Order: sequence, then structure tokens, then C-alpha cells
Amino acid sequence: MSSNQKPVRTRFAPSPTGFIHLGNIRSALYPWAFAKAQGGTFILRIEDTDLERSNQASVDVILEGMAWLGMNPDEGPFYQMQRMNRYKEVLAQLQTSGQVYPCYMSIEELDALREKQMAAKEKPRYDGTWRPEAGKTLPAIPEGVKPVLRFKNPIDGVVVWDDKVKGRIEISNHELDDLVIARPDGTPTYNFCVVVDDIDMQITHVIRGDDHVNNTPRQINIFKALGKEVPVYAHLPTVLNEQGEKLSKRNGAKPVTQYRDEGYLPDAMVNYLARLGWSHGDDEIFSRQQFLDWFDLDHLGRSAAQFDDAKLRWVNAQHLKATDDVQLAVWVKEILKQRGVTSDDRLPAMCGLFKDRCDTLCVLADWVTVFYGEVTPQAHEKAQHVTDAVKPALALLVEKLSTCEWDKTAISSVIKEVLTAQGLKMPQLAMPVRVLVMGTAQTPSLDAVLALCEKQKVLERLKNV
Ligand code: GLU
Repeated sequence: MSSNQKPVRTRFAPSPTGFIHLGNIRSALYPWAFAKAQGGTFILRIEDTDLERSNQASVDVILEGMAWLGMNPDEGPFYQMQRMNRYKEVLAQLQTSGQVYPCYMSIEELDALREKQMAAKEKPRYDGTWRPEAGKTLPAIPEGVKPVLRFKNPIDGVVVWDDKVKGRIEISNHELDDLVIARPDGTPTYNFCVVVDDIDMQITHVIRGDDHVNNTPRQINIFKALGKEVPVYAHLPTVLNEQGEKLSKRNGAKPVTQYRDEGYLPDAMVNYLARLGWSHGDDEIFSRQQFLDWFDLDHLGRSAAQFDDAKLRWVNAQHLKATDDVQLAVWVKEILKQRGVTSDDRLPAMCGLFKDRCDTLCVLADWVTVFYGEVTPQAHEKAQHVTDAVKPALALLVEKLSTCEWDKTAISSVIKEVLTAQGLKMPQLAMPVRVLVMGTAQTPSLDAVLALCEKQKVLERLKNV
């Protein structure tokens, strides 16, 4: 429940005008988490009124990305383009109550006005030429011009709200001119649609990027004109890229779904994104449930957060390590399938053996692929480790392994027997065996690796000296 005891209702309202990146999806994470934490409702609204720039591919990335991250809306997606009649209905209501008026000022006149104001070092703003006032004579209506509709913004007073991130914000109405809320063809404009939606969807908390903070006083005035309660606002600071610029698709941000394809875990992403602008003491690694248990609007950060790829990989590695082997196998199996590799029931054990040394599922899949595919040891590693001195030991190992029971304990005894017989230390034998069997000298314990590899494959690979 919110402080005013209404059930919490939040929304994510992306414009599908380009693929959604991490900065955008963070604006979904917090309203989602807040709704979940409060037993409320999370709504998805697609703001697709920019017909030139909106596209289905962007909608798909939003839906796929949210589904992948487990941030499913309780209501929606609602599409603004499907709500045009409703906006027009509310517009008519405002017209009837005299809170909007037609304005016939042409683009040329508006430009001239702007230039004049700029030359006088004034802030460019509509001057109210067509605003009806008691005792005022309006200009003659020009012929053949379709007017825009402007909202009658209050002239005096201030708009005030207690932003949950930025604190108290006060904007004088003198700063705000009369906003165009319908175009000459009657289509409603952005700020108006947002307010109608937030009212109809009974949004109690608007949690969004702070690039919208300038829209808020205008939107609050429209709420008031419609006699509706204003929601609580929380404007989230920007997410910067590693170079300190605003994260955007123009400077290297990736679509959210690409992280899925690169082997990131949904819970790790949620964890990482949560920390990108919110904190719970010093906690860096937490589960989805912990996040939902802990999330509140009081610990949102006030300054811009900076994306850090290395940290994301680290967070992913921590989650990967903590994930159950059977679950990892489900994900890795999918990656292997895409690579044309068919796995079997050894997969969970393989995942368990290698997960500590992987920071993404793709890296884990790389390791596992070695068991199923071919191996080509690096020439320099082969030269370094598979020396003439060790070849007799390798031959003996092949001989003994070929008759040995294929489990970790038996394999371990065979290795020890060979070491004793040849007077070698473990690394002297283990390194060449790893290079030949796994293609690299760095692997988990040898007996465990060999036990997971098919016997026939091990024997063949060991003969490749
Ligand atoms: N559609 C806007 C955007 O994608 C968000 C509007 C809002 O949250 O009020 O930036």
C-alpha cells in the first residue's frame, strides 16, 4: 500500500523507437520491483504515437527483454495508438470546460516570436495571443487554417511535488507556457496522452527517467485541470556508459536481449541493474527475492550511475556459481543446440565442474563443447607440456586407463599408479594430459575432468602426442 493507502500501481511506458538498452530497462526494473514489493500492480504501456519512429522490432525487444528478465506486467501491454478515441474524448471534456483553446498562430509567426524573445534574452515561450481572457478581443480567425489546441496553463502560482529521488521541486507557472495538446489534425500530443493514461490506469507512482522531469509540472497541471489526484513521482538519474556519456544506442549501448544471447543470467542482470541506482547497505550480490524484499524508493541514488562491463561480468559470475547445476544445464543445452552440439545426461555434472571458472553461460558452453566436439591443442602448449620425457608415462596411462572402470575414484588410482611407476609429480603428468584431452593446461581436477569425458575419446586424445 502507498502512504495514502491506495493499492500501488506502477507502469513502464517505453517508446518503441529503437531497441531497448540497459538504461531503459532499468526504468522498468524499479516500477516493477516497487509494485511487487508492495503487493501492487505493474503495467506495461507502449507509447507508440510517434508513427515515424515507432516499430514492431522495438516492441519485440521490449517484450522479449522483459520476459527474459522475469519482469512480466500484471496488466498490458497497452498501446497508445489504440487509445486515440479515449484521448479525444478527454480532450472534448477539456474543451467543454474551457480549459483548452484553439490557437491559429502559424509556424512562421511562432518562429518570429521565438527570435524576438531570444534577441531580447528572454526564454522562448508562447505569448498567449489566442488565449481567451475576460475582456480580451482575440485576433480575427485566419481563413483555411486549422488550429492547434492549447492547454490553459495557470498563470500564477507554483507547481510543487516531492520527488522521491530529487526531493522537493517547485516550478513557477510563469515558466510554463500554454502547451499544445492537440495538433491541427486533432491528434493529441505526448504529455496529454501520458496524463490520460496515468489517470485511466490509476497509476499511483510514476517512476521514470529524469529526462522527463521538465514534463512533470505540465503533466501535473493537466491532472489538476481534470480534477484528478496527482501520482507520486520518482525521477531516476541517467545511466552513463563507461566513457561517462549518457547511455544510448548511438554510443555503444546494446539491446537488452543481446545480454541473454551473450550468456548473462536474468537474476544477475536484475541484481546488476538494481545496484545501478539503488542500494541496500553494502550488499552487492543478492537474489531476485532479496531485491524484492528490500526494494523501496527511499534508497534510490541521486547521482548518475555508470555502467561497468567488468562489474556486470563479475556479478554474473557470482550468480552463475550459485546456480543449481540442473538449471545451468537447461540454459547451456540451449546454447549447445544453437551450436549444433547435442548434449546428454552428463551435462549438469559438467556445468557443476566448470561453473566456478566461468563468467557467462557462453564461456561455460565453450568448456562443455570440448567434451562433445573435437579438440585441437595449441601448438605451443603441446610443445611445452607434451615432452619426450613424459611420453612413456602417457603411454602407460593409456594402457592402464583402457582397462580401468570409468569413474573418478578408479581414474584417480590409475593416475597415482602411473606417477609412482614413472617417478613423476602430479603436474608433470596432469599438464600434458589436460592439453591433450581438453586443449588447455588450465582445467579443474584431472580425475573429475577425465571421468566426465567418454573413455574412448580420452584414449584417442592421449594418443595424439
Ligand atoms: N515514453 C517515455 C520514454 O520512453 C516515457 C514516458 C513516461 O514514463 O512518462 O521515455
